[in-house]
Amino acid sequence: MSVLEKTSSQHAIDLENKYGAHNYHSLPVVLNRGEGVFVWDVEGKRYYDFLSAYSAVNQGHCHPKILSAMMAQAQTLSLTSRAFYNDILGKYEKYVNEYFGYDKLLPMNTGAEAVETAIKICRRWGYEKKGIAENKAEIIVCKNNFHGRTTTIISFSNDPVARENFGPYTHGFIKVEYDNLAELEEALISDNNVAGFLVEPIQGEAGVYVPAEGYLRKAKAICEKHNVLFIADEIQTGIARTGKLLAVDHENVKPDILILGKALSGGAYPVSAVLANNPVMDVITPGSHGSTFGGNPIAAAVAMAALDVVKDEKLAENAFRLGELFRSELNTYIEKSSICKLVRGKGLLNAVVINETDESDAAWNICLRLKENGLLAKPTHGNIIRFAPPLVMTEEQLLDCISIITKTFGEFEDQSLQN
Ligand SMILES: *Cc1c(COP(=O)(O)O)cnc(C)c1O
Repeated sequence: MSVLEKTSSQHAIDLENKYGAHNYHSLPVVLNRGEGVFVWDVEGKRYYDFLSAYSAVNQGHCHPKILSAMMAQAQTLSLTSRAFYNDILGKYEKYVNEYFGYDKLLPMNTGAEAVETAIKICRRWGYEKKGIAENKAEIIVCKNNFHGRTTTIISFSNDPVARENFGPYTHGFIKVEYDNLAELEEALISDNNVAGFLVEPIQGEAGVYVPAEGYLRKAKAICEKHNVLFIADEIQTGIARTGKLLAVDHENVKPDILILGKALSGGAYPVSAVLANNPVMDVITPGSHGSTFGGNPIAAAVAMAALDVVKDEKLAENAFRLGELFRSELNTYIEKSSICKLVRGKGLLNAVVINETDESDAAWNICLRLKENGLLAKPTHGNIIRFAPPLVMTEEQLLDCISIITKTFGEFEDQSLQN
């Protein structure tokens, strides 16, 4: 079959079901084109994208500046491996360090790899700088975290679906309640072998949980007091998503280790990175860590262009302003709604909680109806819908989207949410 021949949605879905592993429960929509805040399905219907590939496409689909940087580099040099130097990686590392205010960067590809890298750096720092005894290092994580899908990362997840029958699990992690400073401090007092505290500044996958004002700042101070590295996983919250360049910027916190991914490439290419200052990153020595594709020339070119776009188009400012508008309009609707409980979030990372249990299929059914009405969003739980459009959205477009969302909610008011 020619690639130009139009495939029907059902045909594409059938192919994936037959030939692909069933590791996702996708919304039944088959996309074949994207531009800015819009995507189109194979039948030609246009949708507002309110997932942005889990906040990877903050800069909008197929951004021309990112694409042209990618194509120019792809035609010149794509991969050397780190066995040799290339002429763009150093420029990229300098650019990103200056952009975020760090000494050094370690380039990887996916978010999970960057989290794994941060764990390795943190453990080494614990042994070599803090003096923790061999194999005793612990890292504190939060309950209901999401940091990726590798065997080590799922070892400290408490999502049964992500963990079941994937054991044995990796040791060396202590779980504390998110947004609970007393538990964090207790864990640090009762254990001298803690090397780091790994945290999402807003818990995205858990359902967009925004911690109390001051939590990150105080957690950082507690970590400093106990000589423990504060590690921020900004893979989803970073790169302007929450209305600041980084979500920790809302509290003027500077993480000891910063983890970036997703929108670092604007969704054009898998690019992730770990940033730290010299006293931390110096524990990494030749041969101790690596990746064939990490820091490849295309990734470097794409990421510089993607970060340029964030500044040039003032995406953090736009996300901040449109986020306020989104929550205020939704709150007005929710006041007289019987199905929506609340809206929460920061910038353009928001969630609406439905008046139903976590086990219900209410959020799923609403997302199916949103799709019919021209807007794509995905539940994070049975009763929580995340709303995270590309940050290049205009106010006029956002108002159009809010009317689609409230109209769709309206179709469910006073009727059973369970079909
Ligand atoms: C998406 C995500 C990851 C994992 O990134 P992948 O590129 O899917 O491996 C890790 N942490 C957070 C907070 C994320 O949102």
